[in-house]
Amino acid sequence: MIVRAKYIVSDSRTVNENGAVFLCQSKVIAVGTWPEISATFPVDNVLDMGSAVIMPGWVNTHTHLELTNLHDLTEQKNRFIDWIWQIATVEQRREPDWIQQSIAGGIQMSLMAGTTTIGNIHQSLDGLAMLKSSPLRMVVFYETLGFNPVLESEYAERIEQLIQRSLPATDRYRSAITPHAPYSTRLERYQHSLELAQAYSLHLSTHISETEAEIQFLKCGTGDFIELLDRFSIPHHDWIPPQISPIAYLDQLGVLQAQPQLVHCNYLSEADIRLIADSRSSVVFCPRSHQYFHHQHHPVQRLIAAGVNLAIGTDSLASNWSLDMKDELKVLFDLDLPRPQILDMLTVNGAKSLGWSKVGRLEEGWQADLIAVSLPAQTIGTIESILEQICQPEAHNLLTMVGGEIVYRIDTVSVKNRVPG
Ligand SMILES: [Zn+2]
Repeated sequence: MIVRAKYIVSDSRTVNENGAVFLCQSKVIAVGTWPEISATFPVDNVLDMGSAVIMPGWVNTHTHLELTNLHDLTEQKNRFIDWIWQIATVEQRREPDWIQQSIAGGIQMSLMAGTTTIGNIHQSLDGLAMLKSSPLRMVVFYETLGFNPVLESEYAERIEQLIQRSLPATDRYRSAITPHAPYSTRLERYQHSLELAQAYSLHLSTHISETEAEIQFLKCGTGDFIELLDRFSIPHHDWIPPQISPIAYLDQLGVLQAQPQLVHCNYLSEADIRLIADSRSSVVFCPRSHQYFHHQHHPVQRLIAAGVNLAIGTDSLASNWSLDMKDELKVLFDLDLPRPQILDMLTVNGAKSLGWSKVGRLEEGWQADLIAVSLPAQTIGTIESILEQICQPEAHNLLTMVGGEIVYRIDTVSVKNRVPG
């Protein structure tokens, strides 16, 4: 099959005008101009996207699809712990099919917005079949947490049960594991997660360095998170703060050696950044969730300067206004980063942070995960212009393809074999 359009963006540095991609089954075979591709490959099956751009699909490296339906039931709070309390108490009112509806809604929103790969955090025993059969390429990080030492064996049993049920992997779905965060997850949970990661070859992720209160909790054993544990009536009398930063704590536990995906990293010292870079771990920045909680300036530039693989996530609809990566892209424009670097963060860097190779570019032998986005007439054939124009209100995602399969398409797309432009 050939997919063609006015522009093909195959990676962050390459634009083909009057371009085409030849696909076979799940993979890209060749990318070039229409004259080149049509002279080399059969033209009996051509999908013509007209004056659009075809580009790699978005990689949303961090979200919680099971929380999608919380969007209308949560509100912004001054303190992070009040937001967590709100999530926990709203969840108690869930209907039996709440999680399935949340996941289905989140998947549909993602496909419509042109996301092809997701890193999804999942905690419930419900909804597993839906995640495993999703049309999206998906890494599901099964979440473990718990701070009550009396319940440690229950926590261990629960995550082992989740991991057992989550297997096996498919060509689009992989299981992974995430100890939630240091303020909710004892070191025994982190150590157990490392053991499971090793035993089942699972990629690992964790929320880390998200708030200044988390740093205070680990360094001094005081502050908001002690108040939160008390509010949940969770005992913490035997817990001794490690008196180091959250990143140093992960290093001490041996977590960084697993090259995890580190989510948020909103507050980092230079020593933290060196530890992350030396361990070759990835960092996920969630720009609009960062805005939602009114955090200070994110250390994006310092991480990039240190050579850290930086990826982008939406986080859940409980702390964001959409699951559309183009909305994250608009925020990134304000950070004064080179546009090609931003595109890498939203595509190939994201795939790398999820442990997925050959995803995030349109190149020979890479996965045929692509989108077609309509373009305003004033677009010119540069990465800078195309990225800016796809964020305009008149630009729409027309097509989402994962592993060579069309998984979303606007009905009005012409499939006639016509020459674009
Ligand atoms: Zn999260």
